Amino acid sequence: MADQYTFQDPTTQYPDPDIDKQQQGGPGLAEDMDPQPDHGEQSYRGTGRLEGRKALITGADSGIGRAVAIAYAREGADVVLSYLPEEEEDAQQVVELVEKAGRKAVTVPGDLKDRDYCRALVAKAVSELGGLDVLVNVAGKQQFHEDITEISDEQFDDTLKTNVYALFWLVKAAVPHLTPGSSIINTSSIQAYSPAPILVDYATTKAAINTFSKALAQQLAPKGIRVNVVAPGPVWTPLQVAGGQPPEKLPSFGEQTPLGRPAQPAELAPPYVFLASQESSYVTGETLAVTGGMPTP
Ligand code: NAD
Ligand code: MG
Repeated sequence: MADQYTFQDPTTQYPDPDIDKQQQGGPGLAEDMDPQPDHGEQSYRGTGRLEGRKALITGADSGIGRAVAIAYAREGADVVLSYLPEEEEDAQQVVELVEKAGRKAVTVPGDLKDRDYCRALVAKAVSELGGLDVLVNVAGKQQFHEDITEISDEQFDDTLKTNVYALFWLVKAAVPHLTPGSSIINTSSIQAYSPAPILVDYATTKAAINTFSKALAQQLAPKGIRVNVVAPGPVWTPLQVAGGQPPEKLPSFGEQTPLGRPAQPAELAPPYVFLASQESSYVTGETLAVTGGMPTP
């Protein structure tokens, strides 16, 4: 059976999914998506690139974060999984996959908008894993609105808190524990460069994440800590069906990319593995675009 290691045409590697209009509330669950995303459950092959590493992954229950958790475990890392309490079902599926790979999975549900949770999350990761050497910030909030007057002050605050403040709080808490060789990997978006008119608050945070990371990378380089970013294009995840996109746009989701289809979360895991592994020793302050060919500066 062809998988992600088989030489093939990337435009047809995954079928352009026949995505019916669908909608979920809250953060959304991978479990309730149709079609089901591919997180690499059946395909990701580890090659020992993260042997013995200790990783904290936010948004690890679903989507890109789940694909990263599976890949990291199969590469030999123990992982701490952060997610919202209402995503427990999704998170338990990830725990099962990590344990099947023979690695440790520690669940720490909570709300990243809460500074105390962010601090406690890092502390728990350090105590449960016996240290920390990879911080992967994948969690994010995206809610579309056609008009600026529809963005409530509360939403603006929540988007900034989840996507930017949490990043600050987590990095600040983690850095004292990170030894030379460690990596911080953040998650931006094509939206940082080509902002959609319906994602004013979200797109703003994604540009902030890029800039934050480029400044921080220079600051932490002398300590031997690398900071990089992955900027995905359209990826088939709960974020998009839980208010990230208007439902009527979902059937054509990702078709605007040069490759003509959305990504599956499984296609995002390898860049996160690369940026954590020593293979990327001379890469820091970089944003790696995984956009299906949508141009970035
Ligand atoms: P996803 O819904 O699977 O993941 C987002 C996760 O963020 C959720 O699972 C949830 O656990 C976490 N989260 C949200 N608010 C939180 C809070 N207050 N506290 C704790 N956790 C919270 O969707 P995804 O697409 O895999 O998103 C992962 C990242 O990828 C996000 O940063 C998103 O902005 C980015 N991204 C996604 C796309 C895409 O098309 N799906 C494109 C570009 C960037
Ligand atoms: Mg989720």
